[in-house]
Amino acid sequence: MRPAPRSPAHSGGLASLIEECADKLALVISYHSGARLVLYPWSWSSEEPPDAHLLRELGGTYAWVAGYRLMQSSRLYFSFGELMDYVYGRYGVPALTVEVYGWALDQGWRREHEARIGNMTVFKHAFECFNPSPGGELLEVLRANAVALRAMLLRYASVLVVRVAGGPVPEPWGLPHWRWRREA
Ligand SMILES: [Zn+2]
Repeated sequence: MRPAPRSPAHSGGLASLIEECADKLALVISYHSGARLVLYPWSWSSEEPPDAHLLRELGGTYAWVAGYRLMQSSRLYFSFGELMDYVYGRYGVPALTVEVYGWALDQGWRREHEARIGNMTVFKHAFECFNPSPGGELLEVLRANAVALRAMLLRYASVLVVRVAGGPVPEPWGLPHWRWRREA
């Protein structure tokens, strides 16, 4: 079953832009903040996506280089109307969500920054939770992501381009064959 767009971000301008250029898109990455993760579809279901292997190869390379963890988005929590699910589900364009920074999954940080007021949990320093401090820390996050994106594209560019051109797709897990190997 294909998921339908559910959030307002996917209606109107963005949806028509995607519709217009979907056949030229080789890869879509939706950048978020709040944790240090690379997520692959689906967000709305715990079922494996049809291209799970390819998506894990792409996301795994990015995650390994950036120092993030890779997981299926729905394992973090279920969410609906994600851009990633939409472009992959509707158009078959490989898509990932990258959470570039944050303390949302850090129990220690949360203990120090959550306060109970009556029956309500108040989150202190929300800006700090989602944003690296300007300057060195921000540059480090940007650098790590630029390097990870470049590494992933260098490794999988041919797979992604052939895929979007409609040609026979070389299986990414065939890549080790391209490496130099000593023959016995
Ligand atoms: Zn997010």
